[in-house]
Amino acid sequence: MSRVVSILGSTGSIGKNTLDVISRHTEHYDIMALTANTDYATLADQCLQWRPHYAVMSDETAAQQLDDYLRKHGCETQVLSGVQGLCQVASLDEVDTVVAGIVGAAGLLPSLAAAEAGKRILLANKEALVMSGQLFMDAVEKNSAELLPVDSEHNAIFQCLPVAKSSTVSTAGVNKILLTASGGPFRTFSVEQLVSVTPEQAIAHPNWSMGPKISVDSATMMNKGLEVIEAHWLFGVDIDDIEVVVHPQSVIHSMVSYMDGSVLAQLGNPDMRTPIAHALALPERIVSGVEPLDIFEVARLEFERPDFQRFPCLRLCYEAIRMGGAASIVLNAANEVAVAAFLDKRIAYTDIASMIEQALTSPAVDEDVTTINEILSVDALTRAIVDEYVARK
Ligand code: NAD
Ligand code: MG
Repeated sequence: MSRVVSILGSTGSIGKNTLDVISRHTEHYDIMALTANTDYATLADQCLQWRPHYAVMSDETAAQQLDDYLRKHGCETQVLSGVQGLCQVASLDEVDTVVAGIVGAAGLLPSLAAAEAGKRILLANKEALVMSGQLFMDAVEKNSAELLPVDSEHNAIFQCLPVAKSSTVSTAGVNKILLTASGGPFRTFSVEQLVSVTPEQAIAHPNWSMGPKISVDSATMMNKGLEVIEAHWLFGVDIDDIEVVVHPQSVIHSMVSYMDGSVLAQLGNPDMRTPIAHALALPERIVSGVEPLDIFEVARLEFERPDFQRFPCLRLCYEAIRMGGAASIVLNAANEVAVAAFLDKRIAYTDIASMIEQALTSPAVDEDVTTINEILSVDALTRAIVDEYVARK
Protein backbone atom coordinates (compact mmCIF):
# COMPACT_ATOMS: atom_id res chain seq x y z
CA MET A 1 0.00 0.00 0.00
CA SER A 2 1.29 3.45 -0.92
CA ARG A 3 1.25 6.49 1.29
CA VAL A 4 -0.01 9.67 -0.37
CA VAL A 5 2.09 12.66 0.59
CA SER A 6 1.82 16.46 0.40
CA ILE A 7 5.14 18.24 0.97
CA LEU A 8 4.73 21.79 2.23
CA GLY A 9 7.92 23.70 1.46
CA SER A 10 9.24 21.17 -1.07
CA THR A 11 11.88 23.56 -2.46
CA GLY A 12 13.59 24.01 0.92
CA SER A 13 16.17 21.93 2.72
CA ILE A 14 13.60 19.69 4.49
CA GLY A 15 11.51 19.40 1.31
CA LYS A 16 14.46 18.34 -0.86
CA ASN A 17 15.65 15.84 1.74
CA THR A 18 12.14 14.35 1.87
CA LEU A 19 12.06 13.97 -1.93
CA ASP A 20 15.50 12.36 -1.80
CA VAL A 21 14.25 9.71 0.66
CA ILE A 22 11.04 9.13 -1.32
CA SER A 23 13.03 8.79 -4.57
CA ARG A 24 14.47 5.58 -3.08
CA HIS A 25 10.97 4.12 -2.46
CA THR A 26 8.73 5.39 -5.26
CA GLU A 27 6.62 2.23 -5.14
CA HIS A 28 5.48 3.09 -1.59
CA TYR A 29 4.93 6.87 -1.78
CA ASP A 30 2.78 8.97 -4.15
CA ILE A 31 3.31 12.72 -4.23
CA MET A 32 -0.03 14.54 -4.19
CA ALA A 33 1.25 18.10 -3.78
CA LEU A 34 4.43 20.16 -3.71
CA THR A 35 4.56 23.78 -2.53
CA ALA A 36 6.86 26.80 -2.43
CA ASN A 37 6.79 30.48 -1.63
CA THR A 38 8.19 32.39 -4.65
CA ASP A 39 10.80 30.09 -6.24
CA TYR A 40 8.68 28.92 -9.20
CA ALA A 41 11.68 27.68 -11.22
CA THR A 42 12.67 25.07 -8.62
CA LEU A 43 9.05 24.04 -8.09
CA ALA A 44 8.62 23.73 -11.89
CA ASP A 45 11.58 21.31 -12.07
CA GLN A 46 10.15 19.31 -9.19
CA CYS A 47 6.73 19.16 -10.90
CA LEU A 48 8.24 17.92 -14.17
CA GLN A 49 10.09 15.22 -12.26
CA TRP A 50 7.37 14.17 -9.80
CA ARG A 51 4.12 15.01 -11.68
CA PRO A 52 2.12 15.80 -8.51
CA HIS A 53 -1.65 16.44 -8.75
CA TYR A 54 -1.19 19.90 -7.26
CA ALA A 55 1.50 22.54 -6.93
CA VAL A 56 0.98 25.56 -4.69
CA MET A 57 2.85 28.87 -4.85
CA SER A 58 2.12 31.24 -1.96
CA ASP A 59 2.87 34.15 -4.23
CA GLU A 60 0.17 34.89 -6.88
CA THR A 61 2.57 36.14 -9.57
CA ALA A 62 4.84 33.14 -9.10
CA ALA A 63 1.76 30.87 -9.33
CA GLN A 64 0.91 32.38 -12.72
CA GLN A 65 4.51 31.94 -13.90
CA LEU A 66 4.52 28.32 -12.74
CA ASP A 67 1.20 27.65 -14.46
CA ASP A 68 2.44 29.15 -17.77
CA TYR A 69 5.65 27.12 -17.58
CA LEU A 70 3.92 23.81 -16.79
CA ARG A 71 1.31 24.27 -19.57
CA LYS A 72 4.12 24.92 -22.05
CA HIS A 73 5.85 21.72 -20.97
CA GLY A 74 2.73 19.53 -21.13
CA CYS A 75 2.58 18.95 -17.36
CA GLU A 76 -0.96 18.49 -16.01
CA THR A 77 -0.22 19.51 -12.42
CA GLN A 78 -2.93 21.89 -11.20
CA VAL A 79 -1.50 25.12 -9.82
CA LEU A 80 -3.07 26.68 -6.71
CA SER A 81 -1.97 29.75 -4.79
CA GLY A 82 -1.96 31.48 -1.45
CA VAL A 83 -2.55 30.18 2.02
CA GLN A 84 -5.89 28.67 0.94
CA GLY A 85 -4.06 26.54 -1.60
CA LEU A 86 -1.61 25.40 1.08
CA CYS A 87 -4.40 24.51 3.52
CA GLN A 88 -6.29 22.71 0.74
CA VAL A 89 -3.41 20.37 -0.16
CA ALA A 90 -2.68 19.78 3.55
CA SER A 91 -6.20 18.49 4.12
CA LEU A 92 -7.27 16.66 0.93
CA ASP A 93 -9.10 13.39 1.63
CA GLU A 94 -6.70 11.42 -0.59
CA VAL A 95 -3.65 12.60 1.39
CA ASP A 96 -2.54 10.65 4.46
CA THR A 97 0.87 12.22 5.15
CA VAL A 98 1.77 15.91 5.26
CA VAL A 99 5.36 17.09 5.54
CA ALA A 100 5.27 20.45 7.38
CA GLY A 101 8.49 21.90 5.94
CA ILE A 102 7.61 25.58 5.57
CA VAL A 103 9.88 27.90 7.55
CA GLY A 104 8.44 30.27 10.15
CA ALA A 105 4.98 31.50 11.06
CA ALA A 106 3.87 31.08 7.42
CA GLY A 107 3.63 27.35 8.14
CA LEU A 108 1.14 27.68 10.97
CA LEU A 109 -2.19 27.64 9.10
CA PRO A 110 -1.29 24.82 6.67
CA SER A 111 0.20 22.68 9.49
CA LEU A 112 -2.91 23.28 11.57
CA ALA A 113 -5.11 22.38 8.59
CA ALA A 114 -3.28 19.02 8.41
CA ALA A 115 -3.90 18.46 12.13
CA GLU A 116 -7.59 19.33 11.78
CA ALA A 117 -7.88 16.90 8.87
CA GLY A 118 -6.39 14.10 11.02
CA LYS A 119 -3.28 13.50 8.92
CA ARG A 120 0.08 11.96 9.78
CA ILE A 121 2.13 15.15 10.12
CA LEU A 122 5.91 15.09 9.76
CA LEU A 123 6.61 18.26 11.71
CA ALA A 124 9.73 20.25 10.84
CA ASN A 125 8.03 23.65 11.14
CA LYS A 126 8.78 24.15 14.86
CA GLU A 127 7.64 27.80 14.74
CA ALA A 128 4.03 26.61 14.26
CA LEU A 129 4.17 24.72 17.55
CA VAL A 130 5.98 27.54 19.37
CA MET A 131 3.22 29.96 18.34
CA SER A 132 0.17 27.81 18.95
CA GLY A 133 1.30 25.00 21.34
CA GLN A 134 -1.90 24.17 23.19
CA LEU A 135 -4.22 24.92 20.29
CA PHE A 136 -2.13 22.77 17.91
CA MET A 137 -1.85 19.83 20.32
CA ASP A 138 -5.62 20.02 21.01
CA ALA A 139 -6.31 19.90 17.24
CA VAL A 140 -4.05 16.84 16.92
CA GLU A 141 -5.80 15.08 19.80
CA LYS A 142 -9.35 15.99 18.78
CA ASN A 143 -8.90 14.89 15.16
CA SER A 144 -6.73 11.81 15.88
CA ALA A 145 -3.90 13.21 13.80
CA GLU A 146 -0.49 11.58 14.17
CA LEU A 147 2.18 14.14 14.98
CA LEU A 148 5.68 12.81 14.24
CA PRO A 149 8.68 15.05 14.89
CA VAL A 150 11.32 15.26 12.18
CA ASP A 151 13.37 17.90 13.95
CA SER A 152 16.37 15.64 14.61
CA GLU A 153 16.43 16.13 18.39
CA HIS A 154 12.71 15.55 18.83
CA ASN A 155 12.79 12.58 16.53
CA ALA A 156 15.62 11.18 18.69
CA ILE A 157 13.62 11.78 21.89
CA PHE A 158 10.57 10.19 20.27
CA GLN A 159 12.66 7.12 19.41
CA CYS A 160 13.93 6.92 23.02
CA LEU A 161 10.44 7.11 24.56
CA PRO A 162 8.23 4.04 25.11
CA VAL A 163 6.33 2.90 22.03
CA ALA A 164 3.00 2.43 23.80
CA LYS A 165 0.74 5.37 23.05
CA SER A 166 -0.91 5.09 26.48
CA SER A 167 2.31 5.80 28.36
CA THR A 168 3.04 9.49 28.51
CA VAL A 169 6.29 11.02 29.70
CA SER A 170 4.77 11.51 33.16
CA THR A 171 3.83 7.82 33.56
CA ALA A 172 6.85 6.32 31.77
CA GLY A 173 9.40 7.00 34.49
CA VAL A 174 11.16 9.76 32.59
CA ASN A 175 13.36 11.88 34.75
CA LYS A 176 14.69 14.40 32.27
CA ILE A 177 15.07 15.17 28.58
CA LEU A 178 18.63 15.95 27.47
CA LEU A 179 18.33 18.08 24.35
CA THR A 180 21.62 18.19 22.48
CA ALA A 181 22.93 21.25 20.64
CA SER A 182 25.96 21.52 18.39
CA GLY A 183 26.66 25.01 19.74
CA GLY A 184 26.72 26.38 16.18
CA PRO A 185 29.53 28.26 14.43
CA PHE A 186 30.11 30.68 17.34
CA ARG A 187 30.36 28.10 20.15
CA THR A 188 33.82 29.27 21.17
CA PHE A 189 33.46 33.00 20.30
CA SER A 190 33.88 35.64 23.00
CA VAL A 191 31.25 38.35 23.65
CA GLU A 192 33.58 40.85 21.90
CA GLN A 193 33.97 38.63 18.82
CA LEU A 194 30.19 38.16 18.56
CA VAL A 195 29.59 41.90 18.06
CA SER A 196 31.00 41.90 14.53
CA VAL A 197 30.00 38.52 13.07
CA THR A 198 28.49 38.53 9.58
CA PRO A 199 25.53 36.67 8.04
CA GLU A 200 28.00 34.63 5.95
CA GLN A 201 29.72 33.42 9.13
CA ALA A 202 26.39 32.77 10.85
CA ILE A 203 24.96 30.53 8.12
CA ALA A 204 28.11 28.42 7.81
CA HIS A 205 27.00 25.70 10.23
CA PRO A 206 29.74 23.25 11.24
CA ASN A 207 27.66 20.04 11.05
CA TRP A 208 24.27 20.59 9.40
CA SER A 209 23.24 21.98 6.01
CA MET A 210 19.95 23.90 6.44
CA GLY A 211 17.93 26.90 5.24
CA PRO A 212 19.22 30.42 6.10
CA LYS A 213 16.76 31.25 8.91
CA ILE A 214 17.35 28.10 10.96
CA SER A 215 21.10 28.45 10.35
CA VAL A 216 21.10 31.90 11.98
CA ASP A 217 18.87 30.50 14.75
CA SER A 218 21.50 27.81 15.33
CA ALA A 219 24.23 30.44 15.56
CA THR A 220 22.29 32.46 18.20
CA MET A 221 21.06 29.23 19.86
CA MET A 222 17.53 30.56 19.40
CA ASN A 223 17.00 27.32 17.51
CA LYS A 224 17.74 25.35 20.68
CA GLY A 225 15.43 27.57 22.71
CA LEU A 226 12.63 27.10 20.15
CA GLU A 227 13.33 23.37 20.40
CA VAL A 228 12.94 23.45 24.20
CA ILE A 229 9.48 24.97 23.64
CA GLU A 230 8.79 22.44 20.87
CA ALA A 231 9.73 19.52 23.18
CA HIS A 232 7.59 20.97 25.98
CA TRP A 233 4.49 20.83 23.76
CA LEU A 234 5.26 17.63 21.85
CA PHE A 235 6.02 15.48 24.87
CA GLY A 236 4.13 17.33 27.62
CA VAL A 237 7.33 17.89 29.64
CA ASP A 238 7.87 20.77 32.04
CA ILE A 239 10.65 23.03 30.69
CA ASP A 240 12.57 22.63 33.97
CA ASP A 241 12.92 18.95 33.03
CA ILE A 242 14.47 19.79 29.63
CA GLU A 243 18.20 20.33 29.83
CA VAL A 244 20.24 21.66 26.92
CA VAL A 245 23.57 19.86 26.43
CA VAL A 246 26.13 21.28 24.03
CA HIS A 247 27.59 18.36 22.09
CA PRO A 248 29.83 19.69 19.30
CA GLN A 249 30.05 16.44 17.28
CA SER A 250 26.26 16.30 16.62
CA VAL A 251 26.33 12.50 16.76
CA ILE A 252 23.96 12.03 19.68
CA HIS A 253 20.74 13.72 18.56
CA SER A 254 19.22 13.81 22.09
CA MET A 255 18.73 11.61 25.16
CA VAL A 256 16.03 10.57 27.59
CA SER A 257 17.04 10.01 31.21
CA TYR A 258 14.86 7.57 33.23
CA MET A 259 14.39 7.33 36.99
CA ASP A 260 16.08 3.91 37.16
CA GLY A 261 19.34 5.49 36.01
CA SER A 262 19.06 4.49 32.34
CA VAL A 263 19.88 7.13 29.75
CA LEU A 264 18.74 6.28 26.21
CA ALA A 265 20.27 8.09 23.25
CA GLN A 266 19.76 8.04 19.48
CA LEU A 267 22.95 8.39 17.43
CA GLY A 268 23.63 8.85 13.75
CA ASN A 269 25.39 10.97 11.18
CA PRO A 270 23.95 14.50 11.12
CA ASP A 271 21.66 14.14 8.11
CA MET A 272 17.96 15.02 8.14
CA ARG A 273 17.12 12.09 5.88
CA THR A 274 17.32 9.78 8.93
CA PRO A 275 14.53 11.40 10.97
CA ILE A 276 12.51 12.02 7.79
CA ALA A 277 12.75 8.34 6.77
CA HIS A 278 11.91 7.26 10.32
CA ALA A 279 8.73 9.34 10.37
CA LEU A 280 7.72 8.51 6.78
CA ALA A 281 7.88 4.77 7.33
CA LEU A 282 6.97 4.28 11.01
CA PRO A 283 6.54 1.53 12.24
CA GLU A 284 8.85 0.14 9.54
CA ARG A 285 12.45 1.18 8.85
CA ILE A 286 13.53 2.14 5.34
CA VAL A 287 16.79 3.02 3.64
CA SER A 288 17.34 6.80 3.78
CA GLY A 289 20.57 7.28 1.85
CA VAL A 290 22.46 8.10 5.06
CA GLU A 291 25.74 6.26 5.61
CA PRO A 292 25.86 4.19 8.80
CA LEU A 293 27.71 5.88 11.65
CA ASP A 294 31.39 4.92 11.87
CA ILE A 295 31.82 4.93 15.63
CA PHE A 296 35.61 4.49 15.36
CA GLU A 297 35.83 7.49 13.06
CA VAL A 298 33.83 9.53 15.62
CA ALA A 299 36.08 8.28 18.47
CA ARG A 300 35.19 11.05 20.94
CA LEU A 301 31.94 12.51 22.21
CA GLU A 302 32.10 15.76 24.18
CA PHE A 303 29.52 17.56 26.30
CA GLU A 304 29.39 21.12 27.70
CA ARG A 305 26.88 23.23 29.57
CA PRO A 306 25.32 26.02 27.47
CA ASP A 307 26.46 29.58 28.13
CA PHE A 308 23.33 31.69 28.66
CA GLN A 309 25.39 34.87 28.72
CA ARG A 310 26.94 34.56 25.29
CA PHE A 311 23.72 33.04 23.94
CA PRO A 312 20.96 35.20 25.47
CA CYS A 313 18.35 33.92 22.97
CA LEU A 314 18.39 30.58 24.78
CA ARG A 315 17.61 32.31 28.08
CA LEU A 316 14.83 34.35 26.42
CA CYS A 317 13.10 31.16 25.23
CA TYR A 318 12.97 29.75 28.80
CA GLU A 319 11.71 33.14 30.00
CA ALA A 320 9.02 33.36 27.31
CA ILE A 321 7.55 29.97 28.16
CA ARG A 322 7.57 30.88 31.88
CA MET A 323 5.78 34.17 31.09
CA GLY A 324 3.09 32.16 29.28
CA GLY A 325 0.24 33.75 27.33
CA ALA A 326 1.38 35.52 24.20
CA ALA A 327 5.10 35.65 25.09
CA SER A 328 6.19 32.72 22.87
CA ILE A 329 4.34 34.23 19.89
CA VAL A 330 6.06 37.59 20.50
CA LEU A 331 9.44 35.86 20.88
CA ASN A 332 9.03 33.95 17.62
CA ALA A 333 7.78 36.90 15.55
CA ALA A 334 10.47 39.23 16.92
CA ASN A 335 13.11 36.66 16.07
CA GLU A 336 11.81 36.18 12.51
CA VAL A 337 11.88 39.93 11.82
CA ALA A 338 15.28 40.43 13.46
CA VAL A 339 16.88 37.45 11.67
CA ALA A 340 15.58 38.68 8.29
CA ALA A 341 17.02 42.16 9.04
CA PHE A 342 20.37 40.62 10.08
CA LEU A 343 20.50 38.53 6.87
CA ASP A 344 19.79 41.79 4.97
CA LYS A 345 22.69 43.43 6.84
CA ARG A 346 20.37 46.05 8.34
CA ILE A 347 21.15 45.15 11.98
CA ALA A 348 24.05 43.56 13.86
CA TYR A 349 24.08 39.97 15.11
CA THR A 350 23.83 41.12 18.75
CA ASP A 351 20.75 43.23 17.91
CA ILE A 352 18.78 40.02 17.32
CA ALA A 353 18.72 39.11 21.03
CA SER A 354 18.25 42.70 22.23
CA MET A 355 15.29 43.26 19.90
CA ILE A 356 13.62 40.05 21.10
CA GLU A 357 14.22 41.05 24.72
CA GLN A 358 12.73 44.48 24.06
CA ALA A 359 9.71 42.99 22.25
CA LEU A 360 9.05 40.80 25.30
CA THR A 361 8.47 43.99 27.32
CA SER A 362 6.01 45.43 24.75
CA PRO A 363 2.21 45.46 25.25
CA ALA A 364 1.92 42.63 22.68
CA VAL A 365 2.68 40.07 25.42
CA ASP A 366 -0.49 41.03 27.31
CA GLU A 367 -2.86 40.19 24.45
CA ASP A 368 -5.32 37.28 24.75
CA VAL A 369 -4.35 34.29 22.62
CA THR A 370 -6.92 31.53 22.81
CA THR A 371 -8.01 31.50 19.15
CA ILE A 372 -5.99 31.22 15.96
CA ASN A 373 -7.02 34.75 14.93
CA GLU A 374 -5.74 36.13 18.23
CA ILE A 375 -2.45 34.28 17.73
CA LEU A 376 -2.06 35.68 14.21
CA SER A 377 -2.91 39.18 15.40
CA VAL A 378 -0.18 39.09 18.10
CA ASP A 379 2.23 37.84 15.45
CA ALA A 380 1.33 40.77 13.15
CA LEU A 381 1.44 43.31 16.00
CA THR A 382 4.91 42.14 17.06
CA ARG A 383 6.21 42.28 13.50
CA ALA A 384 5.09 45.92 13.26
CA ILE A 385 6.76 46.73 16.60
CA VAL A 386 10.07 45.08 15.67
CA ASP A 387 10.00 46.59 12.15
CA GLU A 388 10.14 49.94 13.96
CA TYR A 389 13.13 48.88 16.07
CA VAL A 390 14.89 47.89 12.83
CA ALA A 391 13.96 51.16 11.08
CA ARG A 392 15.45 53.13 13.99
CA LYS A 393 18.85 51.40 13.56
P1 NAD B 1 14.31 26.58 3.80
O1 NAD B 1 14.44 28.04 3.87
O2 NAD B 1 15.38 25.76 3.18
O3 NAD B 1 12.93 26.20 3.06
C1 NAD B 1 11.72 26.80 3.42
C2 NAD B 1 10.58 26.32 2.54
O4 NAD B 1 9.40 27.03 2.94
C3 NAD B 1 10.78 26.61 1.05
O5 NAD B 1 10.19 25.60 0.27
C4 NAD B 1 10.04 27.93 0.85
O6 NAD B 1 9.57 28.11 -0.47
C5 NAD B 1 8.89 27.77 1.83
N1 NAD B 1 8.41 29.07 2.33
C6 NAD B 1 9.17 30.07 2.84
N2 NAD B 1 8.40 31.14 3.17
C7 NAD B 1 7.13 30.79 2.87
C8 NAD B 1 5.88 31.46 2.94
N3 NAD B 1 5.77 32.72 3.40
N4 NAD B 1 4.76 30.79 2.55
C9 NAD B 1 4.86 29.53 2.06
N5 NAD B 1 6.00 28.85 1.94
C10 NAD B 1 7.13 29.46 2.35
O7 NAD B 1 14.03 26.09 5.31
P2 NAD B 1 14.39 24.67 5.96
O8 NAD B 1 15.76 24.69 6.49
O9 NAD B 1 13.94 23.55 5.07
O10 NAD B 1 13.44 24.72 7.25
C11 NAD B 1 12.06 24.48 7.17
C12 NAD B 1 11.51 24.25 8.58
O11 NAD B 1 12.08 23.05 9.10
C13 NAD B 1 11.88 25.35 9.57
O12 NAD B 1 10.81 25.53 10.45
C14 NAD B 1 13.07 24.79 10.31
O13 NAD B 1 13.19 25.30 11.62
C15 NAD B 1 12.74 23.31 10.33
N6 NAD B 1 13.90 22.43 10.43
C16 NAD B 1 14.81 22.40 9.42
C17 NAD B 1 15.93 21.58 9.52
C18 NAD B 1 16.92 21.50 8.38
O14 NAD B 1 17.82 20.67 8.44
N7 NAD B 1 16.83 22.31 7.36
C19 NAD B 1 16.12 20.79 10.65
C20 NAD B 1 15.16 20.84 11.66
C21 NAD B 1 14.05 21.66 11.54
MG1 MG C 1 16.86 20.49 15.45
